[in-house]
Amino acid sequence: MKKYDVIIVGTGHGGAQAAIALRQNGFEGSILMIGRDREPPYERPPLSKEYLAGDKPFERVLIRPEKFWQEKGVELLLGQSVTKVMPEMFEVQLGSGDTLGYGRLIWAAGGDARRLDCPGAHLEGVHAVRDKRDVDALLADIEGGAKKFVVIGGGYIGLEAAAVLRKLDCEVVLVEALDRVLSRVAGEDLSRFYEDEHHRQGVELRLGTGVERLVGESRVTGVVLEGGEELPCDAVVVGIGIVPAVGPLIAAGAAAANGVDVSDTCHTSLEKVYAIGDCAAHANPYADGAVIRLESVQNAHDMATTVAKAICGDPQPYDAFPWFWSNQYDLKLQTAGLSLGHDETVLRGNPDERSFSVIYLKDGRVIAVDAVNRTKDYVQGRKLVEARAEIDPALLADTDTLLKDML
Ligand SMILES: Cc1cc2nc3c(=O)[nH]c(=O)nc-3n(C[C@H](O)[C@H](O)[C@H](O)COP(=O)(O)OP(=O)(O)OC[C@H]3O[C@@H](n4cnc5c(N)ncnc54)[C@H](O)[C@@H]3O)c2cc1C
Repeated sequence: MKKYDVIIVGTGHGGAQAAIALRQNGFEGSILMIGRDREPPYERPPLSKEYLAGDKPFERVLIRPEKFWQEKGVELLLGQSVTKVMPEMFEVQLGSGDTLGYGRLIWAAGGDARRLDCPGAHLEGVHAVRDKRDVDALLADIEGGAKKFVVIGGGYIGLEAAAVLRKLDCEVVLVEALDRVLSRVAGEDLSRFYEDEHHRQGVELRLGTGVERLVGESRVTGVVLEGGEELPCDAVVVGIGIVPAVGPLIAAGAAAANGVDVSDTCHTSLEKVYAIGDCAAHANPYADGAVIRLESVQNAHDMATTVAKAICGDPQPYDAFPWFWSNQYDLKLQTAGLSLGHDETVLRGNPDERSFSVIYLKDGRVIAVDAVNRTKDYVQGRKLVEARAEIDPALLADTDTLLKDML
């Protein structure tokens, strides 16, 4: 049985950055990265943006050129899943049945696209948007003539997919079970702005409505909503979140509730096993220490660096500043901080001018900023969040005063 100093499970943002950061921090041991994806590490955000739109070829989505991994002495095992972790023997088992030994294990397996749980969910023409294969299948449908789409889910992935589908001249109805889009991640001002924008761009919205079933023989031809309305379609895009991919860790006894629990250096409860990225539940200082999972490139990247430092003998607590972005149509949203638990919002600027920010407060202090086409507010607002600045809401709303001058 072969043994590696570090085995990384997952070749996404977290896994790739863990290998990069290990080498940057002087780690000279053997590294194996195992990934279910068949392609070398690639970025996920373009999958619902430029790659889906045909504006960025796959080579430009790779996290590093293919030869980089070999040059850095990082072995890749692609198209393989880790199905079992045996923590007492420091071994993992692959889908092929092979076992491999590890000195340290970094679990960076992200999440699986949540599937619809209703009749017809497995019909042909029902697409997730999680990996390259999902998006290639969706693109093949579009090339094959699919024109009418139902997008299920009004989170960032569903909204971004809807925006690109409109750009590709498809008809889109977007269905969201809650009464507004982005309700889990943003305040009402932002939700209403994006609803109006999608409406203006020709997306029909059905809010506050669940899906009862999908219909069709072998291929989907319609979506039946609760209440009975049937939306005819050629294909469906489902963007209803992820299920953390932590099955083998939980089976091995790792402490877990939502994803897998990690310490401030991203260590799990299993000896020599770390977890990072979308699947890692951690106490986040920007959420008052609440235990949360963040699904963002920033979080995957910075947790990977935290683990690399810990492995290289320089452990530092994970306290990276949270940030996020989303592109829809000509709108660039940039988010600084976490709005979780806010009790007040301030609108800065005019949404009708397509350049404004929403500032989130908790107990009178700035905890997050959503800036739409307003990079200056994002950059300067970040400083207010870092300082948890206590600022008069009327002043925050005053666009004649720069945010940086309020500190
Ligand atoms: C379409 C899309 C758009 C996004 N847009 C944005 C954005 O605009 N901004 C932003 O900040 N974030 C965005 N995100 C989120 C961001 O991409 C994720 O938060 C980030 O990829 C998480 O990194 P990760 O390493 O935890 O997981 P991932 O990048 O998902 O990587 C996990 C890897 O593990 C593999 N894997 C899973 N289980 C196993 C196993 N048992 N064995 C082997 N391999 C396994 C998977 O195949 C995958 O390659 C987007 C995500 C998607 C899907």
